Amino acid sequence: MDGSGMPTTCSTCPYCGVGCGVLLRPDGHGGLDVKGDPDHPANGGRLCSKGSALAETVGLDNRLLTPRIGGQQASWDSALTLVADRFRQTIADHGPDSVAFYVSGQLLTEDYYVANKLMKGFIGSANIDTNSRLCMASTVAGHRRAFGTDTVPGTYEDLEEADVIVLVGSNLAWCHPVLYQRILAAQKARGTRIVVIDPRRTASCDTAEMHLPVKAGGDVPLFNRLLVRLYEGGALDKEFLARVNGFDDTLRAAYADDVAATGLDADLVERFCDLWMRNEKVVTIFSQGVNQSSAGADKVNAILNCHLATGRIGRPGMGPFSVTGQPNAMGGREVGGLANMLACHLDLENSEHRGAVRQFWQSPAMPEAPGLKAVDMFRAVGEGQIKALWIIHTNPAVSMPDADRVRDAIAGCDFTVVSDITDQTDTARLADVLLPAAAWGEKDGTVTNSDRTISRQRPVLPIPGEARPDWQQLAEVGRRMGWHAAFDYETPAEIFREYAALSGIAGRFGKDFDISLWAALDDRGYAALRPTRWPVTVARQGGRFFADGQFYHPDGKARMIPVTYRAPAAKTGPRYPFRFNTGRIRDQWHTMTRTALSPRLSAHLAEPYLDLHPNDAADLGVQPADLVRVRSPGGKQSILRARITADMQPGDVFAPMHWTGETAPSARIDALVAPVTDPVSGQPESKAGVVAVERL
Ligand code: SF4
Repeated sequence: MDGSGMPTTCSTCPYCGVGCGVLLRPDGHGGLDVKGDPDHPANGGRLCSKGSALAETVGLDNRLLTPRIGGQQASWDSALTLVADRFRQTIADHGPDSVAFYVSGQLLTEDYYVANKLMKGFIGSANIDTNSRLCMASTVAGHRRAFGTDTVPGTYEDLEEADVIVLVGSNLAWCHPVLYQRILAAQKARGTRIVVIDPRRTASCDTAEMHLPVKAGGDVPLFNRLLVRLYEGGALDKEFLARVNGFDDTLRAAYADDVAATGLDADLVERFCDLWMRNEKVVTIFSQGVNQSSAGADKVNAILNCHLATGRIGRPGMGPFSVTGQPNAMGGREVGGLANMLACHLDLENSEHRGAVRQFWQSPAMPEAPGLKAVDMFRAVGEGQIKALWIIHTNPAVSMPDADRVRDAIAGCDFTVVSDITDQTDTARLADVLLPAAAWGEKDGTVTNSDRTISRQRPVLPIPGEARPDWQQLAEVGRRMGWHAAFDYETPAEIFREYAALSGIAGRFGKDFDISLWAALDDRGYAALRPTRWPVTVARQGGRFFADGQFYHPDGKARMIPVTYRAPAAKTGPRYPFRFNTGRIRDQWHTMTRTALSPRLSAHLAEPYLDLHPNDAADLGVQPADLVRVRSPGGKQSILRARITADMQPGDVFAPMHWTGETAPSARIDALVAPVTDPVSGQPESKAGVVAVERL
């Protein structure tokens, strides 16, 4: 309660993976006052521009308030019965792999848990994947190869204790602003040295002492060169290396790699290596520039190799650190929201793990092999193999690579259900059944941020119209498909307790993700849950992993993975001479369904654009603010406003990804991105396509 007499509620920002705590107070007129939570460990009261503008985005404009069938208003009973009947009939006619769920890092953990349980434990297919595939799948794959499980070793405090922060493929200043503010505060206090490795000069370079404008795909040879220098400079930790397999093969591969593929000046590379070598407290932060690549998992492992070889992991102020894009990308990974994961970091392809989860869920059928990953899933939709599809809180008709083809695939699917808070998205317009969902500020559950801290999102506004939380929608369909007892949930607290109990099984199998202490949490405890870093067991709470040299492969050791340079899949040439990079801008989020509601946020960069180097602009005859046509080899095109900037390297162009068919029909950027994926992680290569550019 504050001075106004209105209660204040602790919740979590719904945007990026920093996971900032917010204090929410209804203003009595259907709106909210939003402040940073000074007691939340992620942000200590700070908020970025997006978090500060949350109050401007909670109105009922464009809200979907009732279910719809075929565009017509319908009752929940008829909509849910139709969904259950169509899924059941499709499975009966074509088998469990003829249906799929495509979900989102915007889901709360409780929603994710029910969706995963329904698909993997009861429908009996692993065809559930998430837009986190577009975001973090390469990190998951890299972690699992190196550590034996998908563990983020460090904590946010490590960023403040580091002497050197290396940002690889991360514009932290714009994409994880509060984390960047924490680093800047540490820099002021203790002189943290910042290095940015990114083809573009971004806002994050403003405080960096070194910017390495690496060529797309050059991260692997760069970190291989670092490994060689660490070896030759006597900087390896031989004691720690006794806990690591694969060193000799990895070093041989590093020697064989070609540092010229980085495109970097040799002196700059050596200065970077010297800095890394001379400072023990190094944190390497990596994000989408690493992940969104056809060699994404290899890039992750090239980074992890250097930290493992030097024992710079699991100790204060050092370690590899992936930053996640979405508020609950980590929760989705933990709960098994990816098509190749089970739940609680258990392995889908391990029969003992499967058996234990099946027994826990009392499930009638479980898949034995991974399901379709996002790009393959929509390909299967387009080819008619997936005949019933449920899309929850995401907009793949805009955000998937080859977005026009994905849009057409969804439009041609026999039966598509979309759960969302609005009908004003490219994907919602394609739904046979539209289900109105509860939004941030109304939803009740938990999320996990980038440093494993689980926080509550709490409701402070009434759920409008007939909208319902996602877990209720999923559980109701599960019941109508005949699995009453398994989906007989009444509160998110019940789901959370079941999830926590399941994690105890993972703990018994020696997995890292264990929050089993919370299996006994009562409703009051769940309501009052404070932000807490996992694991949460009787023996252990929070902290760092791997300080003891214990990893999660069967022999307890880590693995270094031999990797060498692989060029991006698409090659530039006379017809498509530009390397095409895509990404976020500071004040928008995903496909703008929420952030576009704030005039303040939309004022930052008001229209879609293409950044290109002055030399390229001169060659093309392009002046500042000219319109340019950008064409892809897939035959797609976008019209964008040219911005001429030496922040780009010659031959590289960049466009933000946010605008949609709703907001700028000529600027559907992901329509230009080819559906090329990393063979290990299945993550699309969204940052290294090729395009042609011409002045209009
Ligand atoms: Fe929200 Fe991320 Fe900004 Fe924090 S840094 S306020 S979580 S968008």
